[in-house]
Amino acid sequence: MTKLIAGNWKMNGLVASSQVLAHGLADKVKANPGRADVAICPPGPLIRDALSAVSGSPISVGGQDCHANESGAHTGDTSAALLADMGCSSVILGHSERRADHGETSALVKNKAQAALNAGLVVIVCVGESEAERDAGQAETVIGQQIDGSLPAGGTPQTVVIAYEPVWAIGTGRTPSLQEIRAIHVFIRNRAQESHGLGDGLRILYGGSVKPGNASEILAIQGVDGALVGGASLTVEDFWGIIENCP
Ligand code: PEP
Repeated sequence: MTKLIAGNWKMNGLVASSQVLAHGLADKVKANPGRADVAICPPGPLIRDALSAVSGSPISVGGQDCHANESGAHTGDTSAALLADMGCSSVILGHSERRADHGETSALVKNKAQAALNAGLVVIVCVGESEAERDAGQAETVIGQQIDGSLPAGGTPQTVVIAYEPVWAIGTGRTPSLQEIRAIHVFIRNRAQESHGLGDGLRILYGGSVKPGNASEILAIQGVDGALVGGASLTVEDFWGIIENCP
């Protein structure tokens, strides 16, 4: 399966700097096609500029969140339909920062994912345990509940992607061991199969401090179908350094 490398820009970038980043990436990917499927997920107000910067390249653009309703009185929110209408292909949902900063529950994430599927977007649903949960031996319990509760009904391996992001590895420079990543990915695939019939062909990404220096060993793990990348997606050099390390 072709790896998917998705860059989560989070709340980073201004108009000019994001143009430099998106154009630089598009140039790299156009000059070296076929290494991986590549997506960038800029902050909402930068999506339109990012779409025009990468047009003519195989890079797709995604949102970082959407509302669960189709439209309406939801100040500050963005509908899945608008993301799709602008030209986005995907949306990240249930990122741990949204679960923590905005109190998003798995039930809400599921409703958002349902709205995104209805709008024709691929959903990248994030799951992952905190350090305390890990230390208490609760990682699989927590991740299992997140999978059961967050995945939409009616998704397929073409429309649903799961990103395994241990919260303690995000932006910290720490990562689980390669064996731990492999084991959790096996667990996630089995659970997604049991709960939603989604195991075979499902893309499961690893996210959490992926950088050029560790990308090749992480992406070589069986069952790791790509990466969701935060900090290292913010420079052409680092993000391309991950893409070109795809096995
Ligand atoms: C993320 O937040 O999705 C992420 C993986 O961040 P980082 O790569 O910076 O750890």
